[in-house]
Amino acid sequence: MTFKRFAEHLAGIEAESGRLEIIRRLSVLFAELAPEEWPKAVLLLTGRVAPEFEGLEFGVAEKEAAKALAMALGRDEAELWKEVRELGDLGRVAETELPEHEGGLPLLAVYDQLRDLAEDAGPGSQLRKRERLADLLKSASPLEGLYILRIVTGRLRLGVGEATILEAMAQALLGDRKKRPLLERAYNLTSDLAYVAELALKGEEALAHVQVQVGKPIRMMLAERLPDAEAILKKLGPHLAEYKYDGERVQVHFDGERFWVYSRRIENITHQYPDLLEALRAHLKRPYILEAEAVVYDPDTGELLPFQYVLNRKVKHLTPELIERYPVKAFVFELLYLDGEALIDLPLTERRKRLEAFVPKTERFEPSERRWIESVEALDAFFDLALEVGDEGLMCKRPDGNYEAGKRGFKWVKYKRAAGGRLADTLDLVVVGAWWGRGRRSGTYGSLLVAAYNPAEDRFETVTKVGSGFTDEDLQKVLPERLDPLRRGEPAPRVWALLEPDVWFEPRLVIEVEAQEITLSPNHTCAYGRVKEGRGLALRFPRFLRYRDDKSPEEATTPEEVVELYRLQWK
Ligand code: AMP
Repeated sequence: MTFKRFAEHLAGIEAESGRLEIIRRLSVLFAELAPEEWPKAVLLLTGRVAPEFEGLEFGVAEKEAAKALAMALGRDEAELWKEVRELGDLGRVAETELPEHEGGLPLLAVYDQLRDLAEDAGPGSQLRKRERLADLLKSASPLEGLYILRIVTGRLRLGVGEATILEAMAQALLGDRKKRPLLERAYNLTSDLAYVAELALKGEEALAHVQVQVGKPIRMMLAERLPDAEAILKKLGPHLAEYKYDGERVQVHFDGERFWVYSRRIENITHQYPDLLEALRAHLKRPYILEAEAVVYDPDTGELLPFQYVLNRKVKHLTPELIERYPVKAFVFELLYLDGEALIDLPLTERRKRLEAFVPKTERFEPSERRWIESVEALDAFFDLALEVGDEGLMCKRPDGNYEAGKRGFKWVKYKRAAGGRLADTLDLVVVGAWWGRGRRSGTYGSLLVAAYNPAEDRFETVTKVGSGFTDEDLQKVLPERLDPLRRGEPAPRVWALLEPDVWFEPRLVIEVEAQEITLSPNHTCAYGRVKEGRGLALRFPRFLRYRDDKSPEEATTPEEVVELYRLQWK
């Protein structure tokens, strides 16, 4: 396939808003690909040249891209900026100004050039990147130029999520989009769409045999919630309860030599924990994949400190002073792979046995605190103990449960403290739109339209307007900084809304919100028609708590969970 043809497909996909239409268009694109083009085309659809966890970025700001385009066209940069303001973005300027070319570059050649550009780093790379991009643009026709620029500046926004790509892949390669779960499983175990495409090309057998690999992040298993000890015991029966530590979840991979640490969002955060890795290296010699909660403790008292403290380690240059000031201890709660053997399909009790045999109790890490629970009284007593030592509550786990990569289910249930008169838990919601403020708030975003994420439909469903809980700094500075770059003229393709906010956003920013109650609403689309026909669910008296940069939009609270919380209100 030529890149030109690929770009035509992208334009077609971008013009669609219906999910089924997008899937149909994607499968038409896929059907035209040669086998060796598959993995790379799939990556390009996500705007990348390597899986996200590899952290390979283009490092080309819009300003640099404009310089490259000016070079390619032999034009003055200032003039181009004038056009950018008229046409909305640099890509459109390229589309208007570049001359049409016959034929077109092969897709693979463009991919290779983009990859070279991304990999070019170090002294002088900025100039070299600019020149490489200018060369590429010189041989590009209008539509190619548009998408090359969108990709390198990180602005390819087709509105196509991974779930949709997987579904279209199932249609194109396995002949039925209902076979998406087969691909999804492979994706959950490896987080690598290109690799899943390679496997799917080999057929269902290869997909069924996919296994976890050291170095490739496993998408994390998530917990459901229930309100009290009684409900939990009824659901799980006798089970294993563990302290729910309030830190950052880390998935640590070790191949005998090298380490990789991944966050919940599958970002590579290895650089954040050099001290922890040193401690692990000293004690654990065999290759493994484990999961733990990394918690900062007070170096003077040894007391565990809340989640916010871990954020001190999320800086570009982690200095020895910072490491010393914010030491972490890891509480290991999963062993997913050990020495050539994947453990994810074993029952929890067996995984836990192996974990405790492998992971010793040391100063910097130890197995999570756990207790076997058979009664409501025992569960409540353990819960009180957890709160007393400063933890968030408990994680209750089914003894026979396997590790379900990338899934939220009742094999793990969280038991957290409910604040008086409020919902049993907070919600993590995605900002999809906003209204301008009035009075004291004029000129800033007055309230935000936020949504839950429906994974089955790959869609964001609105659930409330949040206007309270923001500080002046949030309103004046933080929100504009974070939201302005995400603005768009119309709702993003995956957003389903009935309300019309003043501005729409790319669904990217996740915030944690608490609320008083959940009610039926004709204005919101969350779980629409699920509880009552013609009604969705909405939060009443919502309040912003904090930004959840550790969560991707696809990890937001689901409509399913909102229904659950709605029902829990009357317990
Ligand atoms: P939540 O973020 O409220 O959905 O709670 C789930 C999170 O609790 C996980 O992603 C972990 O980061 C954290 N956690 C703390 N302790 C444990 C534990 N013992 N087992 C599993 N997860 C835990």
